[in-house]
Amino acid sequence: MSEEIYEIAILGRATWQLHSLNNEGTVGNVTEPRSVRIIDPNTKKAVTTDGVSGEMLKHIHTEIMWVLDDKNNLCDACKVLNPEKFNFAIKTKKATPKNVEDALEQALKTCDVCDVQGFLLERPTASRKSTVEFGWALGIPEVYRDIHTHARHALGEKGRGSGEQEGETEGVSTQMVYHRPTRSGVYAVISVFQPWRIGLNEARQDKYTYDADDAARERRYRLALKAYQLLFARPEGAMTTTRLPHVEDFSGVIVYSAEPMPVPVISPLKNDYIDEIRTISESIDASIKVVEFNSIADFAAKIGQLTNNKPYKMKF
Ligand SMILES: [Zn+2]
Repeated sequence: MSEEIYEIAILGRATWQLHSLNNEGTVGNVTEPRSVRIIDPNTKKAVTTDGVSGEMLKHIHTEIMWVLDDKNNLCDACKVLNPEKFNFAIKTKKATPKNVEDALEQALKTCDVCDVQGFLLERPTASRKSTVEFGWALGIPEVYRDIHTHARHALGEKGRGSGEQEGETEGVSTQMVYHRPTRSGVYAVISVFQPWRIGLNEARQDKYTYDADDAARERRYRLALKAYQLLFARPEGAMTTTRLPHVEDFSGVIVYSAEPMPVPVISPLKNDYIDEIRTISESIDASIKVVEFNSIADFAAKIGQLTNNKPYKMKF
């Protein structure tokens, strides 16, 4: 039996140690970590905690989808991960759509990434909302955070101790001190994926773009799920050159519906979110399923099982 999947929510707690996935920006030689102010649902007190933005997580998800795609099903912009997406095709006159509906039609026909991740068009002015949504990953208080101080030594200085290198001026010693944030913690993660909207031309809410091509919808659905599998096994955000996160754990629930039914979302900041999501799901509809996972491997296996299903197609 293979059900069609309408929506999927991923709610969980991810443990990332000594990472620097997302930063506020650099002021002078200090890079500030992302800070957000939240109400801790367990104590009801306002706290400042650590965050990784939804933009960053969505960016990582998009990049993984791009890696996995065979590149024949991407628009010219997405082939090179240009964030302009299908707008680039119109700007460069590679596509000359007649109207908004036609513009969306052409984009959805052409590109796996545009369809799944959404885009904005300038002329005609139109937007496609992403089928993949992420909230902020929020450090469950208390996330441990440290600013590490590093000294960067000039080549000339280093060369003296580790073998001569040509072209270096001996005796010139320049040193730059810089500060890099590193954080460790357990993060509450929320994401919703709407397979039913893949290929849906929202200029006309009642029309799938490629009615004759369910294979493309299914390919895009599987790509998005595989990108989720890798996202939690291999988060590649900021500063991973020297701060590749120690990825340790991911536990939580996959909530999905097999009938037109929005899935409920409860923040994993709450200690009892799993019990709550079970109770809500049971009281809403029997078509909502809650699958618990207890490790990164368990998550990868369970979200992987859903790739055997098909994306839901609304009957109009
Ligand atoms: Zn594209």
